[in-house]
Amino acid sequence: MGNAIIYTRVSTKNQAEEGYSLAGQEKDCKIFAEMNNYSVSKVFVEKGESAKTQDRTELQNLMKFCVANKKNIDAIIIWKIDRLTRDIKDFYRLQEFFTKLNIRVLFARENNGDSATDRLTRNLMGVLAQYENDQKAERVTNGMKTAFLQGHWMWKAPIGYLMKNGNVEPDPKTAHHIKKIFKLFSTGLYQQTQIIKIMADDGLKINTNRLCRLLKNPIYSGYIYKKEWAEEPIRGIFEPLISEAEFKKVQDILNGKKPVITAYKRNNPEFPLRQFITCPNCNQPLTGSKSKGRKERYAYYHCHHKDCCINFRIRKEKLEKIFVDYLKFIKPERDLLNLFEATVKDVYNEKLSIRLNSQKQVQNKLIELKNRKSKLIDFRLDGTISEEDYKFKTEQLAEEIQEQEFRLREADAVIDDLTKCLKYACKAICNIDTIWENGDLDLKQRLQKLIFPKGLMYYSNDFRTAEISSLFIKKDASLASYNNMVPPSEFESLSTP
Ligand SMILES: [Zn+2]
Repeated sequence: MGNAIIYTRVSTKNQAEEGYSLAGQEKDCKIFAEMNNYSVSKVFVEKGESAKTQDRTELQNLMKFCVANKKNIDAIIIWKIDRLTRDIKDFYRLQEFFTKLNIRVLFARENNGDSATDRLTRNLMGVLAQYENDQKAERVTNGMKTAFLQGHWMWKAPIGYLMKNGNVEPDPKTAHHIKKIFKLFSTGLYQQTQIIKIMADDGLKINTNRLCRLLKNPIYSGYIYKKEWAEEPIRGIFEPLISEAEFKKVQDILNGKKPVITAYKRNNPEFPLRQFITCPNCNQPLTGSKSKGRKERYAYYHCHHKDCCINFRIRKEKLEKIFVDYLKFIKPERDLLNLFEATVKDVYNEKLSIRLNSQKQVQNKLIELKNRKSKLIDFRLDGTISEEDYKFKTEQLAEEIQEQEFRLREADAVIDDLTKCLKYACKAICNIDTIWENGDLDLKQRLQKLIFPKGLMYYSNDFRTAEISSLFIKKDASLASYNNMVPPSEFESLSTP
């Protein structure tokens, strides 16, 4: 009498219902053992869903068990070949493995003979099992591909979305976070590390790596992409979280096509002008701190440069008041702004007409390309050109059409509501002092950097600067210098008298 072990497996719940149940398999195998004079010493039961051999823990345990007990095992009994594996290479590999251990592999419901025909039959069964498995996989893949091309995203939903009815839809718990991230980043005013901090305050933990991938994921603008199935991103049939224009803006910033304006390093919200205004003596940036008065602590901006001999310091309130006055002083008069608005509109309209013109050219080109395509089909149908030439030409045409369509989309994205933008910008410029006074530290420092890219030097209740944003101008400056967008000459000298 020989010793045998039994291996049973179900891969899906269905199989249990269709009479492939584990208990059924075990019962069949035990009857087979008795009929063939084997005593059963152990039963390995696989409930895993994976069809892959390496993922099946019980099969792995069985193989280890066989190596350790090879002298005491004569045979493994399995209900049917497809219970062992549906992969023909695996089948041969497993057969070889057990043969080397001198263990026979017997199937309760198959022919177990050793003749050439019997072995061929078993191999064919293995091939059939694999064929069935491949077909199943193919059906699944084809189904998914069709759904994908129709605009369904069927894999793990990225943050901001959740899966519902075989597609993604905005997740009410996280979608607003994603919108905020894109909105902040597209302004070009925030670095990724700053966004991570802001989002942490909002309760969203995210690291640099994840943020970077998130910003590049076209799914948020409504496009899905899988390079094995489609060369171009496919328009999804689900709600986008952000506009295509916003997504493109973010990509431009990520690709370095648009600059990021960053704020100064800072650590004290009480001193927004710290590191920005420089000492009248040595022109080194001032720092801020509090010093002890008789009753309360006063806040000061002061020079801390070791080579500076005047120990310059000024009360925080005083310097900030002078700064706000200075902002009032440099903001343009309303009529200057009107002129600015009109000029920008003129330039914009001119550019717009050029763009519309080129857009028209692209559209004409597209029509021409599409005509050529239909002609090509005619040529192929009446046999004027060969299948090979037809294929080559249509591919070429498809590429050209794609390129032109892309150009058309690009042009669309640039045309924004200029009037609204200008109104907003002008309003902001007119109220720059109030906006600065009421802003938080972050806004304050960004505005400072925007208006005075090179900082300001304090000089007896006034400031001097090497550079001032072209939108701002001293009130007494002439129109001519305004039009030339250069700072008045008095700003150019920085030497201390
Ligand atoms: Zn100094």
